[in-house]
Amino acid sequence: MTVEEVKRLREQGYTFAAIGKYYGISRQAVWEFCKKNKVKVVPRFKRFCQTCAKPFITTVHNKVFCCRECAMKKPKTFKMCFECNKLMITRKENQIYCSAKCRRRNEQKWYRWVKKERAKDER
Ligand SMILES: [Zn+2]
Ligand SMILES: [Zn+2]
Repeated sequence: MTVEEVKRLREQGYTFAAIGKYYGISRQAVWEFCKKNKVKVVPRFKRFCQTCAKPFITTVHNKVFCCRECAMKKPKTFKMCFECNKLMITRKENQIYCSAKCRRRNEQKWYRWVKKERAKDER
């Protein structure tokens, strides 16, 4: 267990507890070792941006975007079109059709179905 090793582990995002486990010592012992040897490293985490999928390194464990521009953009999600079952990429949560054509087609289907059901009632 050297200062360099501990420093490297801390840089990779290991917690005191994780380093302790690695060396078979307590979390407290690691913390004291770091304090004594002035190992002051902010842990860094390797992440993939949820918007552009670029890898990035952050010191914030719950950061999911590489930059502010990406954070402003809503992440795209894959969805299936309600009408044609084609896979589509969208940022809109309420989008269920891949195109206006599919929406119209589905609405017409629905309209026809309602008409048919009504016709049944009238019989
Ligand atoms: Zn990004
Ligand atoms: Zn569609």
